[in-house]
Amino acid sequence: MKKYTLIGPFKQILTMTGLPLKGPLSDEQLPILENGGIIMVDEKIHYIGSYPEIQTKANHLNAQNIPIQSNMVCLPGLIDAHTHICFGGSRAKDHALRNSGKTYLEIAKAGGGIWDTVTETRKATTSSLIEGVKKRADRHLAHGVTTIEVKSGYGLSVEEELKMLRAIAQADKECHPDLIPTCLAAHMVPKDYQGSPADYLLEISTLLFPILKKEKIANRIDAFVEEGAFSPVSIAAYFDNAKAIGFDITVHADQFSTGGSDVAVKYKAVSADHLESSTEKEIQLLAKSNTVATALPGASMGLGCSYTPARRLLDAGAALAIASDWNPGSAPMGNLLIQAAVLGTFEKLTNTEVLAGITFRAAAALNLKDRGTLKTGLLADLIAFPTDNYQEILYQQGMLLPSLVCKKGKLIVGIN
Ligand SMILES: [Zn+2]
Repeated sequence: MKKYTLIGPFKQILTMTGLPLKGPLSDEQLPILENGGIIMVDEKIHYIGSYPEIQTKANHLNAQNIPIQSNMVCLPGLIDAHTHICFGGSRAKDHALRNSGKTYLEIAKAGGGIWDTVTETRKATTSSLIEGVKKRADRHLAHGVTTIEVKSGYGLSVEEELKMLRAIAQADKECHPDLIPTCLAAHMVPKDYQGSPADYLLEISTLLFPILKKEKIANRIDAFVEEGAFSPVSIAAYFDNAKAIGFDITVHADQFSTGGSDVAVKYKAVSADHLESSTEKEIQLLAKSNTVATALPGASMGLGCSYTPARRLLDAGAALAIASDWNPGSAPMGNLLIQAAVLGTFEKLTNTEVLAGITFRAAAALNLKDRGTLKTGLLADLIAFPTDNYQEILYQQGMLLPSLVCKKGKLIVGIN
């Protein structure tokens, strides 16, 4: 027996439909449905329309009613397409050292950097990792994020990466947001590995990849292509192997040096993330490809570096997603809406471009076709902010929180 629910009326519904995946977007293009309602059926959206019209429809369907009695603006649940929220320990010391002028190398010598998180994550029990992921995912949910990509990459051995990805899979079962797992075993060459970087990557692809497929705990392979991590040449065989078994590819690209986005485009990656150092050449390359360019303003804020050239990417014709990069080292804040709003101000992005970057363009970065816009047949992931004007959302720079969050048709935050 299908269960229908009518929710509304909303002062405005931003369906985010009918907009192109790539290129600039003006606010005049943003479709706004005034005084609208949504009929949900089980986990999905059944119908969206003007409230008076939809009420009659809902009566015929015997729908349960969730009445909205104040002004609210509804939009698709937000999607954070890049996080590292499965980790042990804290890097507060790194942050203090960095802000007191110490270099990356000096911090690493003082026991900081990614390796510190690897050590703490390896020490952590699976249950403490699960609890950490759930805690962060629930905080994200309260901010309107209903889908969260989560990377491994602090295990850096077959067993420890498996421990992380199994913890993420378990956390996904125990929290409301959907967690989309990504294997980032190629985050750095582990310090304790006895062998060459090529040996390490070969070991991961031969021993870990088949288990990921068998246990269905990750369908995405990521690598940090960067000086000091993996070079474009050294990662080629790894991505060849990943593609051959059917994984989606995503790349940490052009953060400090270029080369990564080239690899991303060559391997038809679903996304190239970071891009703070991308030059005109990389921008053009990405714009001509189907790889989504994902800006990570949280990392720029965390490190005090320049922002991803989001404006130029959009103007060149690229698809731009915006994600938090929430991680213990360079992006500890983990607030997608604040970061997206701030990026919009610095890069002169329209409201529509920012909202697209955390909804349907972020869905494309994760190769998810069932969410990111509000339309019949897609998941009923929707959020609503207590305002009568959508412009208030980014104007308040992340301080206006949704008073309603609905995940797969279920009201998680809000009335009831
Ligand atoms: Zn990252």
